[in-house]
Amino acid sequence: MNTALLTEDKDPMGAAIQDYFKHKRASRLRVFSSQFDEDEIPVATLFRSYEEMPPIEQTALRLAAGSILDVGAGSGCHTLALREMGKDALPIDISPLSVKVMQARGLDARLTNLFDPHFCNRFDTILMLMNGSGIIGKLANIGDFFLRMKQLLNAGGCILMDSSDLKYLFEEEDGSFLLNLDGDYYGEVDFRMQYKQIKGEAFDWLYIDFDTLSLYASQYGFKTELMERDDHYAFLAKLTLRD
Ligand code: SAH
Repeated sequence: MNTALLTEDKDPMGAAIQDYFKHKRASRLRVFSSQFDEDEIPVATLFRSYEEMPPIEQTALRLAAGSILDVGAGSGCHTLALREMGKDALPIDISPLSVKVMQARGLDARLTNLFDPHFCNRFDTILMLMNGSGIIGKLANIGDFFLRMKQLLNAGGCILMDSSDLKYLFEEEDGSFLLNLDGDYYGEVDFRMQYKQIKGEAFDWLYIDFDTLSLYASQYGFKTELMERDDHYAFLAKLTLRD
């Protein structure tokens, strides 16, 4: 697994988060992919409050309990919402500018990579939100991911992760799906971001469907429960270690 951190000169999302935090507005955070047309992330949504979050995220925050790790925390929106609910979370991110903003917002945020073995606390809940499965990168990494989760979870703990089944992108007019089963898994996407003149490196992001997730999870001793589904192929999964 990649255990690197970003540097400030290649941290476009962090730069956008910092601009929005300082000036209450930001330029366009552009997203490129070899699979999709150019897109953009509205920077204000990275600062969403509990009320502004999609129901899947609200459910995840309600379910989160005990000591909580907020993985890839961005602006810290989930940790802040948890704090208002009286819950305690540790936000981590590989984006140095995002971590600075979280600290300026009063959070004890840590600049660390989820896969860095030097980071060795244990948690009751590991939160991975906003297509949180993406951090796994590629399906081939999923075994390493589950082994890492075992190192970070307390007995009885759980992972709360949201994802989307990208199958709908391959839907034909007759409602059938045209998938190339000999190719890479259809949820493997590459992204690159740009904010003003700051260009990030390309990175892999895994969207995983619920059945594939539960199949791999069970191979590594985890039970997967579907907690919520929206009407756009997004879902929230809860993964717990079987004893
Ligand atoms: N959870 C936030 C931000 C989601 S964007 C929200 O919902 O608004 C994904 C975040 O994950 C980015 O801030 C990115 O820097 C961070 N990230 C990506 N890979 C990571 C890793 N291996 N360890 C920790 N953070 C990571």
